[in-house]
Amino acid sequence: MAIDASHIWHPYSAMHSALPVFHVDSAAGVRLRLSDGREIIDGMASWWCVIHGYNHPRLNGAIETQLAQMAHVMFGGLTHAPAIRLVERLVELTPSNLSAVFLSDSGSVAVEVAMKLALQYWHAAGRAHKQRFATLRNGYHGDTFGAMSVCDPVTGMHSLFSSVLAKQHFVERPGCRYGEACNDADLDPLQRLFERKHDQIAAMVLEPIVQGAGGMYFYSADYLRRVRELCDRYDILLIADEIATGFGRSGELFACEHAAIEPDIMCLGKALTGGYLSLAATLASEQVSNTIDAGSPGVFMHGPTFMGNPLACAVALESLNLLREGDWRQQVQRIERGLRAGLAPCRDLPSVREVRTLGAIGVVELHEPVDMARISNNFVEAGVWIRPFGRLVYLMPAYVMQDDDLARLCAALVEVVARQPA
Ligand SMILES: *Cc1c(COP(=O)(O)O)cnc(C)c1O
Repeated sequence: MAIDASHIWHPYSAMHSALPVFHVDSAAGVRLRLSDGREIIDGMASWWCVIHGYNHPRLNGAIETQLAQMAHVMFGGLTHAPAIRLVERLVELTPSNLSAVFLSDSGSVAVEVAMKLALQYWHAAGRAHKQRFATLRNGYHGDTFGAMSVCDPVTGMHSLFSSVLAKQHFVERPGCRYGEACNDADLDPLQRLFERKHDQIAAMVLEPIVQGAGGMYFYSADYLRRVRELCDRYDILLIADEIATGFGRSGELFACEHAAIEPDIMCLGKALTGGYLSLAATLASEQVSNTIDAGSPGVFMHGPTFMGNPLACAVALESLNLLREGDWRQQVQRIERGLRAGLAPCRDLPSVREVRTLGAIGVVELHEPVDMARISNNFVEAGVWIRPFGRLVYLMPAYVMQDDDLARLCAALVEVVARQPA
């Protein structure tokens, strides 16, 4: 722990930080076992990823079987069954227009790849002046430079870098919530932007329905449907960043399905491997891939070293099998009911501004930002792992969490939030 404190950066942390870090020895199902012997219920699924729980025999087995064949091989000029079978399934499961798949190693890179695909598409189509991106405020798309440029300039955690980031076009997030219709006024800012700048805009990048790390906000499917229409009308590609929402989290397998739309490009990551290894995918329509093939230089200009890692592909494929066999839709609906009931008492707390749930996501928005050091300790003492940021305390449990554990998790959240100053 002394070495950790002196030499290791954690996400968005100082090297010498006053914030607590807890040492995990092992994890199984929905529980983390800390080195001091405490077992805590995990409410975060390690940031949306661990949908089937930790130390799952089937996922362990998939990696062990693949490990006996080969752990890795370069993807340039070589291919292998785990990648082929995974891509076959991804093409089957995602919207039917998406047929070309680029495998990479993290969500941020999947977003970079999506943005480069869009730029190369317009370059190949003879409209190379389309070089900017439009996006919604309060979005989060990752920490690399292209992805940072479409993160919210304020809540997206990257304002420090704004002078070196590409200048993109931001519009307000829709005021119409999930379950509500939207009207022309809601689309007005985007419509006006597209009308003025469509000849410069390559693509609209957004998180469909659920904005994650930029605000944990659920917006109208009607809005998303009409964004698709506007993109078509103004010749702008639509990039759906489903890195957080993909694989059932929002109640549909992909959040685009709430609006029955097909994006031109889709990014997947996080839960893709059930939280086992780092893997991401960017899917594109045949029109995008064919146009890039036919243009100059005739190839897509990207190729990570660990592209298509066989262990990661093998465990992703098994995770997709578990999703299907475990009846993910019912699992997520059950979690949604549990979260709604379990978090309801928060509505009466003076520190709480709003409580919202969608699929297996529960959000308690406070009036004031939490004190991270204190609240982290409080949660662990209450037997749960919950990691808020700012004014947002939220849960995204594994789909396999049983009702009694879910009730305990929610009760601990309510108890700790009740101690927050109003
Ligand atoms: C987490 C996330 C990313 C970035 O993925 P990393 O694997 O952390 O690089 C991008 N977009 C969304 C919507 C995310 O939730």
